[in-house]
Amino acid sequence: MTTVVNRFAVFLGVVVLTVATLVCLMHGALAGDPPVATDGRVVGDESRTRFVLDLSGEIDLSAFTLADPYRVVIDLPEVDFRLPPGTGSAGRGLVSDWRYGQFAAGRSRIVLDVTGPVKIDKAFLLPAVEDQPARMVLDLLKTTAAAFDEDLRKSQLARDSANQPVQKADQLPPPDRSKREKPLVVIDAGHGGVDAGTVSASGVLEKDIVLAFAKKLQENLERTGKVAVLLTRTDDTFLPLAARVQFGRDHAADLFLSIHADSEHEGSVRGATVYTLSDRASDREAAALAAKENASDLIAGLDLQQEADEVTDILVDLTRRETRNFSAAFANGLVSDLATATRMIKNPHRSAGFQVLRAHDVPSVLVEIGYLSNDQDEKLLTSDEWRSRVAEAVTQAVLRFFGQKYAYLGK
Ligand SMILES: [Zn+2]
Repeated sequence: MTTVVNRFAVFLGVVVLTVATLVCLMHGALAGDPPVATDGRVVGDESRTRFVLDLSGEIDLSAFTLADPYRVVIDLPEVDFRLPPGTGSAGRGLVSDWRYGQFAAGRSRIVLDVTGPVKIDKAFLLPAVEDQPARMVLDLLKTTAAAFDEDLRKSQLARDSANQPVQKADQLPPPDRSKREKPLVVIDAGHGGVDAGTVSASGVLEKDIVLAFAKKLQENLERTGKVAVLLTRTDDTFLPLAARVQFGRDHAADLFLSIHADSEHEGSVRGATVYTLSDRASDREAAALAAKENASDLIAGLDLQQEADEVTDILVDLTRRETRNFSAAFANGLVSDLATATRMIKNPHRSAGFQVLRAHDVPSVLVEIGYLSNDQDEKLLTSDEWRSRVAEAVTQAVLRFFGQKYAYLGK
C-alpha cells in the first residue's frame, strides 16, 4: 500500500515538474485556415541563439529538448509552411540546421538540431504590429550535459506523450486472411511531413516523389481487380516507423511494400534496388542505407529510448522464417520485373536491418526506386511516363508473387 501511495506521489511530482518544464504559451487559435509561416531564421552565437518564425497569425506552442543526438522540438497546431526553398539547411550559433512540417493530423512540428546541450530559456509569441508579421521566438542557452540531463529527466512525461503522434490502434484482432476475397497489399510511402527524406540538388524531396509513386502503384494494382490496396499515408504527414509496421500488421497485410528514393555522394550512382530484412547487412552500402532510413523517427524529433522488444517464441520464430522466405521470393521476382522497366544498380537484391520491414508475419520489402543525387534518375523519378512504367512492372511482380504463394499454400 505504501508503495502505491509513494508511486502516486512521485507521479504527481513528475506531473508538476513537467508542467513547469514545458514551455507552453496559450493564444487563441484563429478560426478557419491554419496560420501561414512565411519565413524562419536563426540569429545569435554559440552561447545564446534565437530562433524566429514569421507567422500570419498567433498560435499555441510547446517546446522541449531531446538527447542522442541533442535536439529541440517545437510542437505547433497545424501550420501552412510556405518558407523559401532551402530554409533550415544552414544554422547559426547553437543550431546546426532545422526542419519543419506536418507531424500528425492537425499538428505541425519544427525540429532544431543543436550543437550540444542547450536549455530553452524563453519561448514566446510576438503579435503582429503594423507591417511586421506575428513572430514565434525561441531563445536557447548553452548549458552543461549534467544540467541538460536533469531537465530531461523532469520532462520525461512530456516526451512520452510526444512519442505518440498517431492514435493507438484499437486492440481488435487482425482480420482473418483466409476469409478474404483478394490479398491485401500495403504500400508505405517513406518519410513525410517534418521528415523530408533525401533532397535532390534542385530541391526535389524524397517524401513527395515516393508518395506520388505509391499512389500510382495503388491505381495500377487496383485496376487489375485482383488485389486490395491500402496506403500507410495519403498526404504529407509524418508517420513513425513502428506505426507503419503496425499498420501492416493491424490490417493483416499479405504484402508490405515500402517505397523510398536514395542519394549518394557520388552523383554517378543510379538505378533501383530491392531490400529485404536481415540481421547482417549484405554489404556496407546497405547497412549505411538502413541506418539512414532508420533515422526517420529521430529526424522527426521522436525519442528513441523505448525500443520494442523482439518477441522470442517458437511459433513467432517459425512465422518469421516463413515470412522472410516469402519476402525474399517476392524481392527476387520484383528485381526481374523492375529490370524490364528501369535501370537497376549492381547486385539489386540487398538486405539490412530496416526497422520498417520488421513485422514477423507480413512479407515486407523496401524498394529504393532510384537516386535523387543523380540528375538522370531525378528526371525519371519526376516523370509521369516513367512512374507509370515502373508501377506496372511492380504490379506484375505482385500478381506473380500471389499466384506462386497461393499455389504453394495449396489454395
Ligand atoms: Zn527514404
